[in-house]
Amino acid sequence: MKTTAYYNGKVYTMREEGETVSAFVCRDGKFVYCGSDEQAKSMADECVDLEGAAVLPGFIDTHMHLYYYAENLSKLMVDHVTSMQELKDFIRKYAKSVPEGEWIYGFGFDNEFFSDTHEMPTRRDLDEACSDHPVLLARSCMHFFSANSLALQMAGIDRNFKPEVEGTVRFDADGEPNGVVSDAAGARIVALIPDKLASLEAKKNALEQAIRNLNALGLTGIHAIEGKHLNLLEYPDAYQGLAADGRLTARIYLGLNDLPNCRFTTGLGDDMVKYGFYKLFIDGNLGGRTSALLEAYSDDASAFGSTNYTQEELTERVRDAYQRNIQIGIHVIGDRAADMFVKAIETVYAEDPKPDARFRLIHLSLVNEDLIARIKKLPVMVDIQPMFIHTDLPFLEDRLGQDRCKYSNAWGRLLKEGIRMTGSSDGPGAPYDPLEGIWAAVCRTNLSGEPAGGWHPEHKISVYEAACLYTKNAAYASFEEGVKGTIEEGKLADFVVLDEDIFAIDPMTIKDVNVVKTVLGGKTVYEK
Ligand SMILES: [Zn+2]
Repeated sequence: MKTTAYYNGKVYTMREEGETVSAFVCRDGKFVYCGSDEQAKSMADECVDLEGAAVLPGFIDTHMHLYYYAENLSKLMVDHVTSMQELKDFIRKYAKSVPEGEWIYGFGFDNEFFSDTHEMPTRRDLDEACSDHPVLLARSCMHFFSANSLALQMAGIDRNFKPEVEGTVRFDADGEPNGVVSDAAGARIVALIPDKLASLEAKKNALEQAIRNLNALGLTGIHAIEGKHLNLLEYPDAYQGLAADGRLTARIYLGLNDLPNCRFTTGLGDDMVKYGFYKLFIDGNLGGRTSALLEAYSDDASAFGSTNYTQEELTERVRDAYQRNIQIGIHVIGDRAADMFVKAIETVYAEDPKPDARFRLIHLSLVNEDLIARIKKLPVMVDIQPMFIHTDLPFLEDRLGQDRCKYSNAWGRLLKEGIRMTGSSDGPGAPYDPLEGIWAAVCRTNLSGEPAGGWHPEHKISVYEAACLYTKNAAYASFEEGVKGTIEEGKLADFVVLDEDIFAIDPMTIKDVNVVKTVLGGKTVYEK
């Protein structure tokens, strides 16, 4: 491999705030020098003029459902529709191009942002658009779905249907299912739709395309949260297959929903594909009032959300993984869910305090003083999704009330308390762009800039702190801070070149910055 010098840049090493160099040299996939233009050029076979551009370490997203995203590429995207009417028109028109009787499986609408109604589309809405194909549309959050009458009928969901999990099928006043289903009931319909990615080769092709799309956003690392869909061992197979073909263009750290039935431990694999952690799900989401709260929802005094485990079951699962040296990450949105996970960690960590334990609280959308004090004492980090500010603003204050909102997505506070955080998207449920994530963590508004000055501005963090979320903190989350996450000699040569310097511009415009080049292990994987 050639030795390449990149010079005349503003290279943010991210080793510490404000540290820059103008040049670096890549050889055999690693940075072998960082410093001056002269020295860099003298070491290299070829030189690339950065023309003053800002360079950062490659971005790492610590929570993304990558396989779902890949799969979504084969679905009908409905993420652009801005009203119920537009959604109906779009489906009606699209249905004309679909062979008779075939499924229409769409993804990505968000009724919270509709201009004519905020209601979920019902069976009647979809029947109006199309009644001769079974239609299923997944909401952007991937928890809620809308089905037309034909789809419901094919899934055997009728007025006598008893869902396995209560509340996952909504019924009209007349007792008929209204077409809105969630989670397990949604999965029941999804299971009927022919899988376009049945073969390993089809999976690999879809993943390759998905990762290529993400490279264009500057991503060189993804903590891929995968579950249930495939057999546990099919995920490493697909990613390692791509790596072996030279087609894998981001480093993958796998978070799987099941414990392996063999002696895998965290870190098994190589720089490209690693077995990472055991991902558990305690509660649901705030939008659907299914995340577990200590006190009732402010807009429904009877709702506290629910948990998938009792405390004993949860602690046992955490203990099992911990004893097997498998990292644990848990989806916790509500404060009651967080309390349960923290309790589980307190228990198992006290039994056997391992020197390099790194537990991961995923989301942690709501905390309180007690939780903050306890989390500080534990080897815990928090995987946050800054763009949740954009997606959740329409309902956060309704669900939580003013007082609790002070503790919602309380990133500034967590940081001040010395709690380490990483950045992620939770795509495809939310936007993937790490630069939008950095912007959202810094500005705390929705994409239209509301509320002016930011939502609970005391929890804003600095541009440097936000950039850390997606670089060195993310590397720490996978125990790889020694090999990536900063631009320095000896580390993997993963970096991005931007068209603007995010540290020098108005923070509100960071979301509009573009990646012009993404380099993975010294090889360009995206160029504008
Ligand atoms: Zn998720």
